[in-house]
Formats: sequence, C-alpha cells, structure tokens
Amino acid sequence: MQVIISATLRSFFGRLSRVEAAGETVGEVLKNLIAAYPDAEKGLYDENGKLRHFVKVFVNKEDFTSAARHAEKLPAGAPILLLPLIAGGAPEEAQSIITEERRKAVSLNDEEIERYNKHLLLREISVKGQKRLKAARVAVVGAGALGAPVIQYLAAAGVGTIKVIDFDEVTLGNLQNQVIHGLRDIKRPKVASARDSIRNINKSIEVIAENQQVTADNAMALITGFDLVMDCSDNYKTRYLLNDACVLSGIPLVFSAIYQYEGLVSVFNLRGGPCLRCLFPEPPAPGLVPTCAEGGSISPLGGIIGSIAANEALKIIIGIGESLSGKLLTFDTLNLYSKVLPVGRDSACPICGQEAPISELAAINYEELCGLIKDETAPAVENITPEELLHRLTAGEAITIVDVREPHERAITRFPGAIVIPIGQLARRQKELTPEHDTVFICKEGQRSILAVNTLREAGYKGPLFSLKGGVDAMKDLVFPDEGGRL
Ligand SMILES: [Zn+2]
Repeated sequence: MQVIISATLRSFFGRLSRVEAAGETVGEVLKNLIAAYPDAEKGLYDENGKLRHFVKVFVNKEDFTSAARHAEKLPAGAPILLLPLIAGGAPEEAQSIITEERRKAVSLNDEEIERYNKHLLLREISVKGQKRLKAARVAVVGAGALGAPVIQYLAAAGVGTIKVIDFDEVTLGNLQNQVIHGLRDIKRPKVASARDSIRNINKSIEVIAENQQVTADNAMALITGFDLVMDCSDNYKTRYLLNDACVLSGIPLVFSAIYQYEGLVSVFNLRGGPCLRCLFPEPPAPGLVPTCAEGGSISPLGGIIGSIAANEALKIIIGIGESLSGKLLTFDTLNLYSKVLPVGRDSACPICGQEAPISELAAINYEELCGLIKDETAPAVENITPEELLHRLTAGEAITIVDVREPHERAITRFPGAIVIPIGQLARRQKELTPEHDTVFICKEGQRSILAVNTLREAGYKGPLFSLKGGVDAMKDLVFPDEGGRL
C-alpha cells in the first residue's frame, strides 16, 4: 500500500512524502510502517500504543482514524493519507524558498552592504539572507491599505523584484489608510504611485506595475515566475482566484485581510501546507458580510496587519523562524488581543486535496462562487432607481422605507423618514410593515437590501418589496426638497 505522509510528519520518514508498506488493513499497514521507520512510533503513537489525537488517517476521503476501522479490509490501490491536524513535536527547520544556485548568483555591492547593515548584523539573516532577498521575486496583489506597508517594507528590505498588481485609481478617501499614496497621486493609477514609492526607496529594485484586475484568464500568467504572492486584495473573488492559481502553480501565498478593527494573516500552500480553501472552502454569501470598503477600518490597521504579512514574507524568503503556515493569526486592535489558531490541511479540499476536482482556473466560475452572478432559479428582486424613489416620495406616495444599515453608517447619511430594522430582525418584525404599500429596502451599496428582500420573502411576507438600486451611495447627488438639500 502507498502511504502519503503530510509535511509535518516527514521528519519521521526520511523526509519522504510517499512510502510503501505492506498490509490489507490500516492496522497492518501502520504496523509494517512502524517496523520500517521505527522513529515514527513515538511521533504517531502515545505511551499506551494509541494513535495520537492530532493524527488523522484517511483512505479515499473516508476517515479511518478510529481504531474500530483499523481491521477493515481496504480497497485495492487506495493510498492511505497520514494527516496531522496540528503540528506536533518539534517545528520543522525553516528552509528558504530561494535555491542555493540563485542565492550564489547574486552579490552585494558596497552601497548595499551599507544600506542593509541592520540585516547583516542579525546572525540569522546576514549576507546569505540578504542575497536571498535580492534574488527573490514577489508579486503583491493590491496596492491599498495592506499593500502599502507590504510594498514599502519589501522594497526597504531589499527584495530584488517586486510586481504590483492593482486596477484602481487613488482617491481622497484612500489617503486615510493607504500610506503609500499622497495628495499628488489622486486620480493616478495606484500601481504608478506604488512604483514611484518603491523607486524613491531603492532605485536598483526591479518594479513591474500591472494596472489590471486579476481574472481567471490572467491569474496564472500574472504570478508565473514569482517565488511568492502577497494577497493584499479586498474582495473574495480575487482571494479565491489567487489561492487556486498559487496551488496550481506551486507558489506559496501570504494572505492578509482587514475589517474595521480586526485583521487576519496566514501563509498558504507552503511546502504542502494548507490553502485558503482548506480553511474556508467557499466565501460567504454576498451581502452577508460587508466588505472592508462598506464596513470601514481604523487607519493604522492596514499598517499593523500588512507589516506582519511583510514580516512573514521575509521569513519565508530568508528561511528563518516559524511561519504562519498551518496557522491563522487573528488580531483585534480594539482590545489589543491576538490569537494563533491551528489550520489543518483538508484531505477533501477541492483544490489541494487528495482527489482535487479543480485542475485549472477555467473550470471554476469565480463570479458564481462569490455570488456575483444572480441565481436564475430564485425570483429576481425588483429594483427601484434613486430617481424613481425620489419622484414617488416627492409626489407624496405612501411608501415604507426600511434602512438595514449599521448604526455608524446611518450616522454618516441619514435617510429621511426611514424606519430601521436590522436584517436579522426582519422576519420577527414584519408586522411593522404594511402589505398594501410598497416597501423599499435601503443599504449602502444595494447588496444587503437584496438580501433583506429575500429574507423577508422566505419568512412568508406577501406585500410588494423593492431594493434601492446602488444604495444610499447612489442617492447622494439627488436633492430632497423636504430636507432642503442633499442627503
Ligand atoms: Zn486546500
């Protein structure tokens, strides 16, 4: 039988990822495996001879961990997967992702020795580590709040080649937390502003500015030839595309995300470690979770979380310390509380699992995965345009307006005459609505209002329901006569 050994257990098996062991049941195979690799016994079994709790045994995606199944005859030819849920024992010795040949091919000149003096003083980094940084090629997706510190620290640390991928232009609202851009960059592409910033730090860094959106068609080409990808994006579609493209190309991915006061950082797809889909196989339904742009974030949050992500990137390139591979860091800046949670490799993961059904990006409809395509079987939610709503309100029609936004969003823009019902309370409070009147739901961008209509329909409400197209954002330029001006 063939036994697949997960990365963290390989030190017991001569660093092999697959080994052969005779036997017709899990019990027999494990017994013969231990006989061939006696070191593995203390790793896999406790002092009572029981399989340790952190080890899972899978055959054909089926869980064979329980001792009761160890005597079952196995299907012929099915490999056995040994999978630790949490990294047990001694941490793996860190390894650089830069090969020795590539490190030896670069040299540091006098100016670089002066510039990187503080790295050279660190025993763990020294000249070897600095050369690895110079040889490294890193692609950063997103030049916003997270990309700002990531791009600037990678450049300052001496990463030799940096590709910046973004399709947005700088706006005044970006300057609250995207510290790589300034006033003079407003209306310029973010990648152009980021490139200037890198050149201002270090002219010898090769910068590639890609002013485009990551799609299923270009994702593989955008990251090919890079040693590491930094996910500093702000949407689920890009995150899942990048994860899948990195798994298919064998490139490690540093993941970082921010929302309001909290951040997440992890390292995916590093030497057989788990990927984003092992952790979250699918993104949340649209409208359920506001995006960072809708939910806001405190100014230094991107700096804190992005700096941790940049630090992970340097560790992986230099080959020092313990990375966040197989772990998820959660960081709450409001209460200053952080936690590192274990993340296991999922043997049934659709992209990195044993029999992963996804083998190319074209096979996945990312618009559909992220709920960007409407479900054709569900009755369409009727929209009302801002102009029409204003016209009907001005004409004195009896329309019930329900605001489903968060309190802080309502504090920015109050909608006159609206009643406030959070989506979670809609089913319970439907008596407050009049089925004889039209009811219009409003949110910030017109996504959560669609969810609100569907929620109320599911709860059995029979009256006419509408969603304000484009949300309150789309009404900002319309004049409300009763209010004596704009919203
Ligand atoms: Zn996976």
